[in-house]
Amino acid sequence: MIQRPKGTYDVYGVKAKKILYLEKLINVLMEKYNYNYIRTPLFEKSELFHRAVGETTDIVTKETYDFKDKSDRDMTLRPEGTASVVRAYIENKMYSDPNLPSKNYYIGPMYRYERPQSGRYREFYQFGVEVFSSNDPMIDAEVISIPVNFYKLLGLKGVKVKINTLGDTESRNKYKEALIEYFKPYLDSLCEDCKNRYLKNPLRILDCKVDNDKEFFKDAPKMRDYLNEESKNYFEKVQKYLDALEIEYEVDYSIVRGLDYYNHTVFEVEASVEGFGAQNVLCGGGRYNGLVKMIGNTDEPGVGFALGFERLLTALEFENINLPYEDEIDVYVIPVGEKETAFSLLQALRLNGFKADTDYMDRSIKANFKQADRLNSKYVIIIGEEEVKNGIYKIKNNKTKEEFEINKEDIIDFLDQNIDSEEM
Ligand code: AMP
Repeated sequence: MIQRPKGTYDVYGVKAKKILYLEKLINVLMEKYNYNYIRTPLFEKSELFHRAVGETTDIVTKETYDFKDKSDRDMTLRPEGTASVVRAYIENKMYSDPNLPSKNYYIGPMYRYERPQSGRYREFYQFGVEVFSSNDPMIDAEVISIPVNFYKLLGLKGVKVKINTLGDTESRNKYKEALIEYFKPYLDSLCEDCKNRYLKNPLRILDCKVDNDKEFFKDAPKMRDYLNEESKNYFEKVQKYLDALEIEYEVDYSIVRGLDYYNHTVFEVEASVEGFGAQNVLCGGGRYNGLVKMIGNTDEPGVGFALGFERLLTALEFENINLPYEDEIDVYVIPVGEKETAFSLLQALRLNGFKADTDYMDRSIKANFKQADRLNSKYVIIIGEEEVKNGIYKIKNNKTKEEFEINKEDIIDFLDQNIDSEEM
């Protein structure tokens, strides 16, 4: 038996229903926020991620799925969504649309060659947003509000929002210098990765999973002491806007985020439920002014986040939340010999917006009633020789067991009056 690759999973049955429900809710929520759906390729030229995500990040140094295509070009399965959306934004000159800021959202699989464990997969799904062209701290707060409200709509309670600022370029550069100075005497005790990060991006040392419980990390310089006035003001405004939205948060100076491109606001949403496990960051994001310029020849600010479906599903299970996904149909048509008439009615029902099904297994009438129950059908219609002859169909309310005899021309009207259908 050929098995699926390590770190991947199949989606079917109840899990498929849950995922479709989540996607539907995201689409509805994003419509309310007036964000536009964007889809980019699953693979890009490797260079894009090297340049955008950063040469010192684990994602790029160790975790990308790289391959050569048949023309010997270096390609990479996308490890995250931002770089691709930024590339699409520039390549399609989306910035020239006067309808700014450009507010985009995506849903799709990402690929990272990580050690598979609970909450960490090699193929995983993310919902993310990327907003371009606005330097308004209100947008930072809005971007943070999206996952918070999404989790709230789902009924999740054990979530904690943590925010921090990495400041503007000037503040960040001063902070980098301070870190380089501070870690100099400890260079030998740093892990190999951190030695490499030391000059290229010392902020990433603070995020290291190997080194960060070492004693000398405690007294490392703190970003808050290196912020210039502008950066401080910006961060204060983001907090004021979050207060206006009544979003609870905690300022956590240790958050630096794993990717190289962030500045100003960074944030994470954690599952703060006892026993959730080490992979408790449900969502992460921040501002990345400068990334657009790094990839293309235009300079536009950007801010975004990404949240994973897998950890979200685990959090929902942890809090015993049942998603209200549809698990019933409107009508089950039972053909008694008259399969063509039943089949034709089935199509009419479906095209009029009803969820309808029939028998393809040549079941007995009794077995068909059982099947209707299994599908949680609201109504059952029986079509046999007599019904076809008279043009009058028997409709049974499968919950109350009431039976009706309805002219075949009036079937749709009858169901319209009794069931909320979705217009096609
Ligand atoms: P990142 O792109 O690393 O900032 O991650 C954003 C979110 O994506 C995380 O909070 C997780 O929910 C999810 N995520 C990241 N990596 C993985 C992974 N390997 N497996 C499952 N979910 C992931």
